Amino acid sequence: MQLDVKRSKMLLGGRWVVREETLEVRNPETNELITTVPAASSEDMLWAVEQAKIGAKTAANMPVHERMRILREAANYVEEHSERYATMIATEGSKTIREARKEASRCVETLRLSAEEARRITGETIPFDQSPGGESRVGYYERFPIGIIGAITPFNDPLNLVAHKVGPAIASGNAIIVKPATVTPLSAFLLAEAFVEAGLPDHVLSVVTGRGREIGDTLVTHPDVRMISFTGGVEAGLQIASNAGLKKVSMELGSNSPVIVLDDADLEEASASTVSGAFWAAGQNCIGVQRVYVMDEVYESFKEKFVAKTLAYQTGSKLSEQTDMGPLITEDEAERVERTVNEAVKMGATLLCGGIRKGAFYDPTVLEDVPDESLLGSEEIFGPVVLLYRVDSLDEAVRRANNTDYGLQAGMFTQNIDAAFQTIRELNVGGIMINDSSDYRIDAMPFGGVKRSGLGREGVKFAIAEMTEPKVVSFQLKR
Ligand code: NAP
Repeated sequence: MQLDVKRSKMLLGGRWVVREETLEVRNPETNELITTVPAASSEDMLWAVEQAKIGAKTAANMPVHERMRILREAANYVEEHSERYATMIATEGSKTIREARKEASRCVETLRLSAEEARRITGETIPFDQSPGGESRVGYYERFPIGIIGAITPFNDPLNLVAHKVGPAIASGNAIIVKPATVTPLSAFLLAEAFVEAGLPDHVLSVVTGRGREIGDTLVTHPDVRMISFTGGVEAGLQIASNAGLKKVSMELGSNSPVIVLDDADLEEASASTVSGAFWAAGQNCIGVQRVYVMDEVYESFKEKFVAKTLAYQTGSKLSEQTDMGPLITEDEAERVERTVNEAVKMGATLLCGGIRKGAFYDPTVLEDVPDESLLGSEEIFGPVVLLYRVDSLDEAVRRANNTDYGLQAGMFTQNIDAAFQTIRELNVGGIMINDSSDYRIDAMPFGGVKRSGLGREGVKFAIAEMTEPKVVSFQLKR
């Protein structure tokens, strides 16, 4: 079946359905209406859970080779139609076509990894005789699917972040209900199309569109939904975690990622990598570079290179091959970023470049001397804005990098192995990239944060561990 997005159907228990109530999906660059999607009701969500109950049984009983076949075929489908997928990402979201192509190809990788990891969901034997009285027992544990997973996803990677939940869920024999971001639901529909084409049985996957604040709670609080896998902002994450009750929650939240540049770093490489890590997806990137701590000896030279590379960044039409950076997801978001920067400047920050908004576009922006007590100096900006700081020592850099409520990823540039290992030990983050910016990720690695950046880990193998429960089996033998 080919999905015609103009018909704006959502996938409910294996059927594409419309609803009278709809939500608009607009291109943030032009504000043009792309299509409308169903505004699902709480009853729709309850129905999706009823369908998923059937799906959970089907999925758990599906042999591993069949799960692998479906995941591989879905991956092949995305690959074959990758330009269509990339164009959808770049039309409904903020990404440029070049960024969107990378996301589409990472989605293929995520699904292929899921197919491979499906065969590695194993347990181990347990030596029961280690405990007195256990001599006559033999046994093992194996991992079983958790049942029904509720997945709530953000707008900034509208395809691959959905794949990071759907791929592992199917690999591990679960049913899954996806509630995609309201501003970018169409890439999630396209992913569902790939699974329908690959022959995923009905009821295993639903993609239900509607406002998180209206229908999210029905999914989050439902006793038959055994896990909520959430990626999004800390505010919604806290609300979801407190409403979920006694079920697993995995939280992939935000950050204001730091990068440390020591005086022995290759400044050309460090500035190029940090600029790219800062402005990817117009800075709407959970591991995007926000704070750069540079040693005093090289600060001026790094700053000059960083600002020059930022000024060379091309903003413009998302579908143009020349464009490096597109708009923010809405004009409201661009206004929020503008307000936050202006407030920091009023509090004493110095604007080095950027700071200009046109509609939903906000120029790549660099500041220094941003006060720690400003919103920009302490919170996630989630926009194309970078803060440069001069530091006197590695200890100071690490202390200031850790001085935040977040801890997702960090980057560091140095040739000094001792300094690198000290930083690895002392930085309180989920991942640290030496001689890369914080914005480095592959889909197979464990991914997630500490503090307000989240709970649990994604990355296919690690998501599968969260989506399965070990069950212990013991045989008591007569002799
Ligand atoms: P968001 O506003 O938190 O929304 C994320 C999702 O949650 C959307 O589907 C939203 O639905 C839904 N939602 C909002 N409130 C809800 C509620 N009370 N109950 C249930 N669902 C609710 O985040 P966003 O603006 O889309 O994304 C940006 C944030 O995501 C940033 O903070 C970024 O750092 C974070 N992020 C983290 C990672 C990671 O892996 N750590 C990756 C990407 C993004 P609606 O769209 O209908 O509001």
